[in-house]
Amino acid sequence: MSATDTIHTPEYNVTGQDYQDRRHFRYQGPPLIDIHAHVMRPRNFEKPDVIVEDNVDQARAMLAVAEEFGIARIYTMCPVDDIPILRDAFGNRLGFNGPISKKKDEPDEAAYRMLDRYLEQGVEIIKFWAAPRGRERGLNVDAPWRIETARRARAAGIRIMMVHIADPDLWFQKVYTDTARFGTKADQYPPLCRMLEMFPDMTWIAAHMGGDPEHPDHLQELLERYPNLYIDTSAAKWQIREVSARRDAIRALICRHPNRFLFGSDLVTRPALDREHYVSRYWCERTLWESDWEGPSPIQDPDFPPPSDGPSTPILRGLALPQDVLEQVYRTNALRLLK
Ligand SMILES: [Zn+2]
Repeated sequence: MSATDTIHTPEYNVTGQDYQDRRHFRYQGPPLIDIHAHVMRPRNFEKPDVIVEDNVDQARAMLAVAEEFGIARIYTMCPVDDIPILRDAFGNRLGFNGPISKKKDEPDEAAYRMLDRYLEQGVEIIKFWAAPRGRERGLNVDAPWRIETARRARAAGIRIMMVHIADPDLWFQKVYTDTARFGTKADQYPPLCRMLEMFPDMTWIAAHMGGDPEHPDHLQELLERYPNLYIDTSAAKWQIREVSARRDAIRALICRHPNRFLFGSDLVTRPALDREHYVSRYWCERTLWESDWEGPSPIQDPDFPPPSDGPSTPILRGLALPQDVLEQVYRTNALRLLK
């Protein structure tokens, strides 16, 4: 974005929603656990090695908002150097997930060294980011160095892996049109299935509604075929748009498998974020899962093709999940898996 692109409406509230209005929230149970977030010292988006704000102020702001929304513990994927700093500042309120990647020309040892460093810091989850745009960098979920990383993690006592598989259907229509480079959306899943079969004694959490909220029947099939597969609900804009569009089917899916879904936000502590950004995500996510609220999403969604005569954001349609299902998704599934 250039300096001349002045934003008049903040991305976190394009409809003028009153985020203090939470009368529609229905969940009454014990505190939530956010299984998927990126709490860290804010980095440069283009150059993730560059720390822009060398402090935990954004993390503090996000955790204060989380607390306001009943979230007591957050699992963060952050650079390994940030773990001691965050642990000092926030203690038990954070758990840690170590994302393992390497540059294409780096030897496999680079990934194993990274794993060792995360293990030294006591991470409870290991993450493989394997989005289609990572393929050319060799970040396939079943690359040999990732198989070996999973083996080593398991030997060190890790029982939970998180994976980012696929991306929104809309991206395959607009961004990933070169299937020779990126594969089709369906092509993203056989490598995940190989890992699920290769490591049946590990729990695999497929992030962002398994990467396929557009096809609840596909998620159903995967959950039935692989008892070690779990799904997190993270990525607000994606889920607001696609879960709302097939509310009844996703509601039925979660109610059939209430012990297989975990609440997540995918919030990132980016430089100079307004606290209302964090408020908007937690407000919308709780609204989506627990309420029967309906209306245009307050969050700007660049992927949404707005109809000529309709609102500029997708309609958010709350699923109003039952209390006992919510308690599992919001809390007890994570507690059971993570002990
Ligand atoms: Zn994420």
